[in-house]
Amino acid sequence: MEQDPNCIFCRIAAGQIPCAKVLEDEAALAFLDIGPLAEGHVLLIPKGHYQTLDRMPPEAAAAMLRHLPALAKAVQTATGCQGLNVLQNNGRVAHQVVMHVHFHLIPRNPGDEFHFNWPAGKYPPGRAEELARLTRQNL
Ligand code: AMP
Ligand code: ZN
Repeated sequence: MEQDPNCIFCRIAAGQIPCAKVLEDEAALAFLDIGPLAEGHVLLIPKGHYQTLDRMPPEAAAAMLRHLPALAKAVQTATGCQGLNVLQNNGRVAHQVVMHVHFHLIPRNPGDEFHFNWPAGKYPPGRAEELARLTRQNL
């Protein structure tokens, strides 16, 4: 499994930097985010170092993501939150700061401080089909 000695999440996965651990197995680790957007904000990471999701072998992604439903339930029960956002940032432009794949589980409650700007657009005729075809061709 590839590691980057300069990567903070690799060092957490290796036990070299402490974390508030929630879950661990041979492929994945979940721990509390040190700068929570809400109390109980959890990060789920693969133990291997992959900078972005598109670079992950499907087996490594599956071994990590199998934990997501149970983690979502545990975070909601532990915090009593009414909802949960799962967020995964890829690339600096997408607000990725730590370049080791991670999924945020962010507890949500009415009136909380976490806001999305969600500028939903609209496709001109034919554009959605064209983009679906292009994307299919790249799978
Ligand atoms: P992102 O912007 O998606 O790359 O998010 C990186 C997240 O990692 C941020 O929410 C940080 O608060 C969190 N983080 C950075 N260092 C640590 C650490 N040592 N322990 C726990 N969380 C961390
Ligand atoms: Zn890493």
